[in-house]
Amino acid sequence: MTVAVWFRNDLRVHDNPALFEACRSTGDVVALYLHTPEQWRDHDMGLNKQRFILENVVALSKELAKLNIPLLAISIARFADCARALENICREQGITALHFNEEYELNELHRDTQVFAALSRVGVAVHRHQDQVMLAPGSVLTGQGQPFRVFTPFKRCWLKLVQESSIQPLPIPKKRRAIVLAPTAVELIESWVPAQPANAFWPAGSEEALHRLDDFVAQRIAQYDAQRDFPALDGTSQLSAYLAVGAISARTCFHAALSANHFEWDSGNKGIQTWISELIWREFYKHLSYNFPDVCKGKAFQPHTDLIPWQRNPKLFNAWCEGRTGYPIVDAAMRQLITTGWMHNRLRMVVAMFLTKHLFMDWRLGEAFFMQHLIDGDFSANNGGWQWSASTGADAAPYFRVFNPTRQSERFDAEGEFIRRWLPELSSLHRSQIHDPSPLERQLCGYPAPVVDHRTAVERVKAEFQNVKTSEFA
Ligand SMILES: Cc1cc2nc3c(=O)[nH]c(=O)nc-3n(C[C@H](O)[C@H](O)[C@H](O)COP(=O)(O)OP(=O)(O)OC[C@H]3O[C@@H](n4cnc5c(N)ncnc54)[C@H](O)[C@@H]3O)c2cc1C
Repeated sequence: MTVAVWFRNDLRVHDNPALFEACRSTGDVVALYLHTPEQWRDHDMGLNKQRFILENVVALSKELAKLNIPLLAISIARFADCARALENICREQGITALHFNEEYELNELHRDTQVFAALSRVGVAVHRHQDQVMLAPGSVLTGQGQPFRVFTPFKRCWLKLVQESSIQPLPIPKKRRAIVLAPTAVELIESWVPAQPANAFWPAGSEEALHRLDDFVAQRIAQYDAQRDFPALDGTSQLSAYLAVGAISARTCFHAALSANHFEWDSGNKGIQTWISELIWREFYKHLSYNFPDVCKGKAFQPHTDLIPWQRNPKLFNAWCEGRTGYPIVDAAMRQLITTGWMHNRLRMVVAMFLTKHLFMDWRLGEAFFMQHLIDGDFSANNGGWQWSASTGADAAPYFRVFNPTRQSERFDAEGEFIRRWLPELSSLHRSQIHDPSPLERQLCGYPAPVVDHRTAVERVKAEFQNVKTSEFA
């Protein structure tokens, strides 16, 4: 008897429920990976992330080899091809059971439904496991049995429920006896890597992810609440890319934080509590994608906001994409994104509000641009973050509270250290000038004038939101 584990967004051997359960079987265990480049393109997945995933698949194949589990990887086009491909592999390899960890976004759910139906038809037992989040979507509900739309009550209920469940990460399964089947050559997987330079900021593999977690918990988590908003500091974990591909599990992160906090969830060290809360935001957004699948179809969470007449202006959009808006903090952040594939959370909010509120452009443009560049691109967190910033989402920023980018810059990068790092043309400016250089300083530094005036832009966006709000009740 041969049992297979289908790896997707869970590219690790430690704390992997599907792998762990498959390894409880007495038969041979093989691992499967399906590369779907056309689907990735449809999902706006950037080359950075594509490369990162495949590098993690290579790292995973080496970890699996140590357990005597061969990884068979094939390249197909899209999710719709998965059912047929798996059926063929199961037939060829005599696989009688398939295990995988569930994903909760709409296309992924459709894919898994098709796989379940196809394999069940040919007599392969399909076992789905709960892994991406601590509590399965659909299990955290209001007293009326409805999904939460607001974070704070979700968090309260989530904390209550999670304390009743086990958070102990699963161990790496034991080494198995060798089997005859040869794994897919690493060279073949590497040949799927797009022509994209290696990203030195993000070495692939679970080992790196676990090392980052240990380092963060030992050195920085206790100050997280005080440091997390300052982009010049190394105040956050920088684990998002690893969580997005599953090189580390959310359970492992929660467990490490709790161990450092004497197993207190919402008391104890303030830094740890705040970090736990951010991980719960991640859960909240995954639950939203599942409970409100319209957000996976490009719709606004608050339907009336789809009436907003966002402007089309390719020139302004390009200025935003390329970091040429004349607002130093916005431009520095966009250059950080383009260069490293990552952006600090405070700045994601600043640039997202800038695109939607100052430039009055559709949040979907920014959402897609982020996905095309982020190494940690994650549909639910990205959609949630964009809809929060655009005031179209669940529990979103109110439309009349628009960040002033210059004030944000003075507050969170007071010395201008972050700006100097990413905008070398402004590096000679004093802290009092760097957040909003004078016309003469801009000219001398070769830095553009602001593309919009803050006050005028804010008045406009408030009026437009007010209009659609009124028309909703008309
Ligand atoms: C417009 C916008 C787009 C975003 N797009 C993404 C995205 O594509 N992928 C992504 O992982 N995060 C996204 N975020 C959330 C957040 O910015 C990143 O998770 C965070 O900056 C990653 O850095 P870190 O690993 O150092 O986080 P830490 O501060 O160390 O937090 C730990 C983990 O918690 C999770 N997390 C933290 N904050 C949030 C949040 N607000 N929402 C959801 N999860 C969170 C992440 O998995 C993160 O790795 C977005 C936020 C905004 C405002």
